[in-house]
Amino acid sequence: MNNIKRLWHIQMLELEEQKKNKILKANNILNDLLSKKVEIEIKQQEFKRLKEKYKLIKKEIDKINNEVMEEKVQISKLDNKLYNCFAYNQREIEAVQRRLHSLKKRVNDFENKELFLMEQQETVKNKLTGLSRLLKKKIGDFQQLREQYYLQQDKTKRELKELQKNKQKLYTEVDPEIMKLYNNMRRRFKNPVARAENGICGGCHMTLTTVTQKKLAAAGEQVKCDNCGRLIFME
Ligand SMILES: [Zn+2]
Repeated sequence: MNNIKRLWHIQMLELEEQKKNKILKANNILNDLLSKKVEIEIKQQEFKRLKEKYKLIKKEIDKINNEVMEEKVQISKLDNKLYNCFAYNQREIEAVQRRLHSLKKRVNDFENKELFLMEQQETVKNKLTGLSRLLKKKIGDFQQLREQYYLQQDKTKRELKELQKNKQKLYTEVDPEIMKLYNNMRRRFKNPVARAENGICGGCHMTLTTVTQKKLAAAGEQVKCDNCGRLIFME
């Protein structure tokens, strides 16, 4: 392998290196991860709020249950008074009946309220189940993507290291003067070395002069394209 061909390999490794560095810095996956995380946090807050609501409803139902129980004890006492005691006069009986009527109405109201709350509780419970399922999926997706991201980063880092090792090895194999020329040319060209094929420069795609083509065929080093000035070589 002549010096120019080695430079060509270095150049390819450098371009590859740039690509890998770009991948390492690319933050599209990171942005995706971040937005997924925000989504999860929003859903988690919603879940927390609903759970609080569920607890409040349950507390209220328990409270109503207690009150209904107390009222029912009262009712049963009054019922006993009314049907097992003959000492009452008509006025007293009417008073107890009114009291009973109002207690029963209260119990009825409470029970209606309880039914309404139980329906609400059921709705909230269903929402919680749905949210919990959604959260589980979202967290799973997030973890999978994060895993993928780290795997990709690790792989790229390993490839980059290997690439740099190969590049360093090639550096030591190129004549220092030509290396210097290459580095100077890099200020002008992104790719200072081009492969010539069928008499055409691979850098600027122009046809090389016959003289240059002859120089190339003679395997002379440091042949430059007549048009763009890139170092050229032939396989
Ligand atoms: Zn050219």
